[in-house]
Amino acid sequence: MVQTNSDGISPDGQQPGSGIQPLLERLSSDQFREWYQDRKWRKNIEEGQPYFNGPGSIPDPERHSPSQLLQCHRKLVYRQENAPAEQSDPRGIFWFGTRFEEDLLFPFLNRAVTGTETYVQNSIWIDFTVESDAGELRIKGATDPVIVDSDAAPVLPTEVKTKSAVDNISEPNRHHRAQVHAYLVGLSEKFDRDFSDGVLVYGGREALELKTFHVEFDAEFWDEVVVDWAEEHTQYRLDDELPPADPEYDWECRFCSYRERCGKGDTNYQDVDSNGLLAGYAGYPRDDVVEYLEANPDESLTPTLAKEFPELAKEYGVVNWYCRCCSSEVSWEEADPQGDPLCPRCAEQDGLSTLSLAREEL
Ligand code: SF4
Repeated sequence: MVQTNSDGISPDGQQPGSGIQPLLERLSSDQFREWYQDRKWRKNIEEGQPYFNGPGSIPDPERHSPSQLLQCHRKLVYRQENAPAEQSDPRGIFWFGTRFEEDLLFPFLNRAVTGTETYVQNSIWIDFTVESDAGELRIKGATDPVIVDSDAAPVLPTEVKTKSAVDNISEPNRHHRAQVHAYLVGLSEKFDRDFSDGVLVYGGREALELKTFHVEFDAEFWDEVVVDWAEEHTQYRLDDELPPADPEYDWECRFCSYRERCGKGDTNYQDVDSNGLLAGYAGYPRDDVVEYLEANPDESLTPTLAKEFPELAKEYGVVNWYCRCCSSEVSWEEADPQGDPLCPRCAEQDGLSTLSLAREEL
């Protein structure tokens, strides 16, 4: 037991229990976030994938990934061109999806199908091209677990998705069917054999349940829906055109990281291209701001974000204001970024004029 004086202070001058405080501080959400980021960074290096640290390179317009087929064209263009994300990745959902596939589904498949004839392979790389009016399209990516024969030739590819619950799923999502179709075409090409069957496995996060759907190859769906979509997407990229805000499913907007610049958020922005942080938007996650500024050394913080993250202002700089009325640049610290910031020079002359960011005017 620690001896204390009449004020309850121990001989080393500490209040009872004060040794707990540093421990509690080490258990904060900030500490967890930093630890998680660092762990992910190290893991990518250890696994020979340092390119996952930081923003990805901009893919060629002809390049497509099976997992992105049929998604909102505009959202994909924002993501492919590294527009700053307005909300963090739903890491918990990604993490659960990986754990579900590796820790539960793979062992389950192994148990369920492994015999003298069939085995389970983690994934198979596919890389193939299709002709289109926009030129040759390339579809490249890795499958989910594939049931294979004793020569490791595919028998039945799977695609695994997790959802909060599976009991209300009555049919597979078209995006997921498109993904299985890409696997079937890619595997047919790679193994010089026609594959026409796959299986979509939905895993429920809450009750840990499964629902499976047999997917049969549908040439019309592949040619007239999936390949047409890929051709259209490539054409938007080649023409440097912002695609319409027209996703197939409404829920895409709910989970989209670009709602504000697209025009579906709570601000007045609309149809903004992929470049730059939005001047009046304060909701960017700190990590995404840092990642964006690291990848774009010519960019600076907006005054709104400098107020939100003052510690970043010194490191990355802050873009100043500009007044069109008196044609003068105004330091970012001289105006309140909230609402419509007013020009202090014009105010001295009893004028009212709204400031805009200098980077947009000079
Ligand atoms: S908010 Fe909706 S329409 Fe806009 S980019 Fe995102 S998913 Fe597409």
